[in-house]
Amino acid sequence: MSTILPQPSLTLTHPPNPKPHLLLSTLLTSSSSTPTPTPTLSQLKQIHAQILRTGLLQQSPSLLTKLLLCSSSLDYSLSLLRQFPNTQLCNKILRHLSRSPHPEKTLLFYGGLRRKGVVLLDSFSFPPILKACARVSAFGEGREIHGLTVKMGFDSDPFLQTGLVGVYAGCGRVWDARFLFDRMSVRDVVTWSVMLDGYSRAGLHDDTLLLFEEMKSSDVSPDVVVLATVLSACGRSGNLNSGKSIHRYISDTNFVSDSHLHISLITMYASCGSMDVAHHLFDKMPSKNIIASTALISGYSKVGKIKIARSIFDQILEKDLVCWSAMIAGYAESDSPNEAIKLFKEMQNSGIRPDQVTMLSVISACGHLGALDQAKWIHIFVDKNGFGDILSINNAMIDMYSKCGSLDNARLVFDEMTKRNVISWTSMIIGLAMYGEGRLALRVFDQMKRERIEPNEVTFVGVLYACSHAGLVDEGRWIFASMIKEHQIAPMHEHYGCMVDLLGRANCLEEAAELIERMPFEPNIVVWGSLLGACRVHGNVGLGELAAKRLLKIDPDHDGAYVLLSNIYAKANRWGDVGEVRRLMKERGITKERGCSWIELDGEIHEFFMGDESHPKADEIYEKLNEVVDELKVVGYAPNSGSVLVDLEEEEKREAVLLHSEKLALALGLLNGGKGPCIRIVKNLRVCEDCHSFMKWVSKVFEREIVVRDRTRFHHYRNGLCSCKDFW
Ligand code: ZN
Ligand code: ZN
Repeated sequence: MSTILPQPSLTLTHPPNPKPHLLLSTLLTSSSSTPTPTPTLSQLKQIHAQILRTGLLQQSPSLLTKLLLCSSSLDYSLSLLRQFPNTQLCNKILRHLSRSPHPEKTLLFYGGLRRKGVVLLDSFSFPPILKACARVSAFGEGREIHGLTVKMGFDSDPFLQTGLVGVYAGCGRVWDARFLFDRMSVRDVVTWSVMLDGYSRAGLHDDTLLLFEEMKSSDVSPDVVVLATVLSACGRSGNLNSGKSIHRYISDTNFVSDSHLHISLITMYASCGSMDVAHHLFDKMPSKNIIASTALISGYSKVGKIKIARSIFDQILEKDLVCWSAMIAGYAESDSPNEAIKLFKEMQNSGIRPDQVTMLSVISACGHLGALDQAKWIHIFVDKNGFGDILSINNAMIDMYSKCGSLDNARLVFDEMTKRNVISWTSMIIGLAMYGEGRLALRVFDQMKRERIEPNEVTFVGVLYACSHAGLVDEGRWIFASMIKEHQIAPMHEHYGCMVDLLGRANCLEEAAELIERMPFEPNIVVWGSLLGACRVHGNVGLGELAAKRLLKIDPDHDGAYVLLSNIYAKANRWGDVGEVRRLMKERGITKERGCSWIELDGEIHEFFMGDESHPKADEIYEKLNEVVDELKVVGYAPNSGSVLVDLEEEEKREAVLLHSEKLALALGLLNGGKGPCIRIVKNLRVCEDCHSFMKWVSKVFEREIVVRDRTRFHHYRNGLCSCKDFW
């Protein structure tokens, strides 16, 4: 420990120093600028005693100021002030505290002043207190001070009024802030800035821009802070036109050389997805700034140019948390969850600690990946690093575990939460629903209502989904009706989609079609897609054709619709029509999205495409797959080529269906022998009919549990059966 003053006693008591007050002053000043900035209380008291003894205070009142500003003990400062009451000095301390990293101390200090009646406060005392209230969102205190200032007759002071506007805006009471703002007779640039910032923080971007227009026609000119706030509002609301007009305003008023504004402009253009302009402005910067680089990383990620984002990221020499987070989020949101997790581990190695934002991206990436070992690792990380009590993190973990096919762990997180909101309940319901645990999902839904948590639109999607995937037709009908009647929630496309799915599963196809007819708005792809899917299962060619036609009218490039329609024709042995669909697809240049499956073994992710030979163990995998196919053929499995759309001879089709990515992943899982009771595979598309029955056979013949998460749900294969009961 490096102390400034020798311990335990000060040597200053004996030296014959010609100017002791200068020495003391220097000691106090140097104390406040060294790595251990504040002298200990006992040191301060010694200095204090020294000052009193030598009568220095009369010679140099600035010593007292220094002594007070150095003190980290509010009680000590208060007792000093009681000995030497001085309003000006007191205001100085208030200002000092309100700007410090601990603004809450301002309020504690103010509380002490009031309780003990130490000094008289004047109109200059309140702005710093109000500033602190705004910074720590202390609404109660702020309102109390408001009342007090009215009583003291200070309420027409413009500085005080600005402070009050800041308190109301800072505590989310923007309309109260605006009420005060509108009644102010004098408004300076700080007042405008505070009000604009209040709107912007509250996400009221249109109001920010409107108020800025008002400001331009007032006699106060905007400063850099105001312009940065307004640009940020444009960026966050994606309002490129307003952003451009502010850019012009900045150029016209010669603000353009300000580097802070230059960065704000880059951020605005990048947030609006206008990457060419953003990058052009970026290139014009004399030295590449990290905030601007981060803005480009986010912008490029959002428009799907993840490689450019990465190259900018790689050029940053000293990466901070925000830019790491931006890159991780970029990967997480652009279907590269594996990259997101890899980068997260790199960030760990570089010694940067993640925050809540980073963790949410990583947790979401892990859920997307469906990798249970990684999920468990992240869970441990969350607990170890103090994120375990954060509501949004726990909610995200419920979702992550559900997507990784581990309902037990999702339930564990849910049960251990001390506080739950509607998102927590909804995530749990959706998790159960995805797994076909309809009755359990409904039980959780009932419990939620008993605990008086009001369900929202998403909750109902989850509940209806649960009903549909567990075949609970009556319950589903009843809940759908209760949405409007009991909860005043108008069903949206997703809810209709679930209902059509539910009715379709129960082979109530006519009722489903009628429901679609009765919809108060145009049915969308989800709704028609649900009907089409049901028609495939029940082999209803007529309704299937109708649904496909309507779906393709909305989205002519919908590859899924072509595939489903051709499946329907194949099932009805209408091979001519299958060929016709294939011809249409070719003519319109539609290709099926490339199937891809992952399997996680020992914490490592293995990725397979159809017919993929890039895996280091490819030879062994194919050998195993052939072995499995031969063994299954003996007991009755026959490859179902109806799932193949490519123009191949029948024999080749049989081959092709055997090379599907999930089968390759499964073969690797089987190669891994006695590892764990369950093989977990994630597929980016819906699992095809042949792979579905293949998995069922394997689960029976090889006595292995297999969990496959496809695009929409989980299939849990056990002993020759699937949890989806062959409806997906
Ligand atoms: Zn397949
Ligand atoms: Zn299934």
